[in-house]
Amino acid sequence: MSAPRHVVVHASALSAGADRLALRRLDDGDLGVIDGTEGTDVVVVRGAAPSAPVEDAVLVCQVEADSVRCYRVTGGEPGEEVESTVIPASMDLFDRVRGIFETDVLRDRAVAVLGLGSGGSFIVRELAKAGVGRFLLLDHDRLEPGNVSRHELGLNDVGRFKALAMRDLVHRHNPAAEVVTSTLHVNGDTKHEVLEHIRKLGADVVICATDTRESRLLINRLCLQNELPMILGGVFQRAYGGIVQRVIPGLTACYQCFVDSLPGQAGDTEISSEADAARFSYTDRAVLPQPGLSTDVIPIALLMAKLALLELLGDASPAFRGLNQDLVAPMFQWINRREAAHAHLPPMGAGVDELSVLRWYGVLLPRLDRCPACGTKEVVTKDEVYGVT
Ligand SMILES: [Zn+2]
Repeated sequence: MSAPRHVVVHASALSAGADRLALRRLDDGDLGVIDGTEGTDVVVVRGAAPSAPVEDAVLVCQVEADSVRCYRVTGGEPGEEVESTVIPASMDLFDRVRGIFETDVLRDRAVAVLGLGSGGSFIVRELAKAGVGRFLLLDHDRLEPGNVSRHELGLNDVGRFKALAMRDLVHRHNPAAEVVTSTLHVNGDTKHEVLEHIRKLGADVVICATDTRESRLLINRLCLQNELPMILGGVFQRAYGGIVQRVIPGLTACYQCFVDSLPGQAGDTEISSEADAARFSYTDRAVLPQPGLSTDVIPIALLMAKLALLELLGDASPAFRGLNQDLVAPMFQWINRREAAHAHLPPMGAGVDELSVLRWYGVLLPRLDRCPACGTKEVVTKDEVYGVT
């Protein structure tokens, strides 16, 4: 077996102390990967001088204080050096974003992401890339072939629980991240268990990316009762737009306030699966699933990820400090296409004076005194909530 032209070495694999490892081959043998898999292809030598016989190996990987060099085995001896790339063990990975994200701060921060569909999976990947160190990933679904066109996971993960496959994806970006997973279905029966997971992690922020109103209302209430900030996102039908809410207990309107204040908008929801369609088909008339494109879901998920970073960093990031003054609205709205309730919008054109597509708008969503979830006044009847007498 000949040596590859380029080798990728995972530093964490070498620090484990094995003297022999496997060489995993990619790209028709052009690339070799040393990632800690057990095997005999690679002899690992620590220090300056070779100390082990190398005849039956393909490569010799020589590790010194802060360098790794790989040599092709020729005639039973280490010969020509092979190009190599070393993947650092942990936080060195985030050198490039240091100064923007303050990765030392993010390493100790914890995020609970509830719901790992197209939006949730995107948010998790972005937070892992930024260097967030601790995650709870919760979703009861397995990945299906139909999910793949809108999900961060691909066909090689079909059949796996999204929570477990997303844990692996986090580790591909940040091997040092601590990831707790759960396949609980969020509902009234499991809410105590879900809360227990969030508490155990010590979540600094909760991302609500589930796709049913019932689960969102439940998570909204759990977060309010436990004084946890929550970022919630929702996509309108066929993802022609969506909203993002930042719920700070005791300060901003909550999701229940949104549902009660703007029931029409809160009811405008993407129907992304057969199960959703069945839920929305209140009459005999069939409702067809009409999922939106990934490109239309991502803007919503991206703002959620940014708001989560703001929540995690507080004032620790000079680059994000200004954003804290911009993103003060309790709710934000984005319209991808002039459709449905927004069909009347003028085309964006070259000017941006008027409400238009493809821009964020802060929405002043008042907190309801008599909100059943966050209100400060006791709710007597539903009519009283809406001021009907
Ligand atoms: Zn409320």
